[in-house]
Amino acid sequence: MPFEFQGKHVTVAGLGVSGVPAAKVLHGLGARVTVVNDGADERARAQAAELEALGITVRLGDGDTLPEGTELIVTAPGWKPTKPLFTAAGQAGVPVWGDVELAWRLRRPDSAPWLAVTGTNGKTTTVQMLASILKAADLRTAAVGNIGVSLLDAVTGDEEYDVLAVELSSYQLHWAPSLRAHSAAVLNLAPDHLDWHGSMEAYAADKGRIYEGNHVACVYNVADKATEDLVREADVEEGCRAIGFTLGSPAPSQLGVVDGILVDRAFVENRHKNAQELAEVSDVNPPAPHNIANALAAAALARAFGVPAAAVRDGLRAFTPDAHRIAHVADVDGVAYVDDSKATNTHATEASLAAYESIVWIAGGLAKGATFDELVAGAAKRLRGAVLIGADRALIREALARHAPEVPVVDLDRTDTGAMLQAVQEARRLARPGDTVLLAPACASMDMFTNYNQRGDAFARAVRELGA
Ligand code: ADP
Repeated sequence: MPFEFQGKHVTVAGLGVSGVPAAKVLHGLGARVTVVNDGADERARAQAAELEALGITVRLGDGDTLPEGTELIVTAPGWKPTKPLFTAAGQAGVPVWGDVELAWRLRRPDSAPWLAVTGTNGKTTTVQMLASILKAADLRTAAVGNIGVSLLDAVTGDEEYDVLAVELSSYQLHWAPSLRAHSAAVLNLAPDHLDWHGSMEAYAADKGRIYEGNHVACVYNVADKATEDLVREADVEEGCRAIGFTLGSPAPSQLGVVDGILVDRAFVENRHKNAQELAEVSDVNPPAPHNIANALAAAALARAFGVPAAAVRDGLRAFTPDAHRIAHVADVDGVAYVDDSKATNTHATEASLAAYESIVWIAGGLAKGATFDELVAGAAKRLRGAVLIGADRALIREALARHAPEVPVVDLDRTDTGAMLQAVQEARRLARPGDTVLLAPACASMDMFTNYNQRGDAFARAVRELGA
């Protein structure tokens, strides 16, 4: 049922990238909007002034008190469910929506269906690959979510779409109870953001919400049983199918790889006997194993939407990954230098390290509570050496000492931004022709850099200095 906003008291929790546009849209729909925000820094004050000029009430410095008369809360996705504001809302019977729920409720009845993607790693890449494939099929589409167009703009703006490729985080899914996608994929599930969700079970359950009410396909990762379990637990529309993707040979109702070819045994006539060739592994950029998995997931969603095989190939060929995601920076003296600064957790780094035979690994930063034993033990035989930077590097050094004692380690005791140049120089010293120097830090960057982009840029600059 459409929600009537006219005259409703709506509290928007959190300014920022989702809160400010949400407040404006709700105000435009006739709601009486109050924005509450924890901080009151300069940026918040400027945003507040902008909203107040429109007649929106803003309370800075108190995100915990539920404003009197609130009938609905629209929250920024990052706000923790345990915040007192939500406890108060629960007691008062006030519903809480996130930015995705708001967009879902505001979409026009005839608006474009959503092909949705979540997972611990690979979301952005997969959604971009999917959008590229849909475009190759001449569909009007956009990659939306954390990237490109905002979801709210995509559903309320003037631009018309045939289908949307939507990236969803576990936070957003937590606050999106009525979302019903055409088809959805969970790429993988590894512990992440557990401080927010409270437990691995709660994290998985929030990711699993993406399958609720799917119409055509629930796409899961054959190699990650937890994703298949989520499909089994989901309540879907009659006739909706479970579709697996695998780097191995596909069973019926799966997409997979046979002799270097991506093949579809799900969306073909007589899938017990037939398979459809989609693309070659070399059409995937970069053709690292985890990225081929991303391509298969994107292909599965596109095929669920009826996209022909040739468009999958053309879309994958046209795709170029975003910066700092296994980006080849340069070859110097026969050594490849690769920037995967976006590998900010151990699961991503594991995939990255699995893509190369002989690696000088640059790692470290803020560990966010992670442990590194499993990662290091799994990669030990491929490590030529390691160069460690950043605040929590001792955790990685200790894991290396336990599981890869023969691997030479350079521990850089500095956290200034110039440390990256020294790290690259040390890596060069350790590397032999044919090796890959890989920045895949397994950690967040904020101890040394503003973000992972800046960290990757510093790496690329340092590599260019080597070559100069
Ligand atoms: P997200 O949007 O989920 O953060 P990205 O596509 O931006 O994902 O990729 C983030 C990092 O995760 C990349 O740098 C890469 O190292 C790693 N990664 C990408 N796809 C996968 C995957 N399918 N499995 C494991 N790691 C992956």
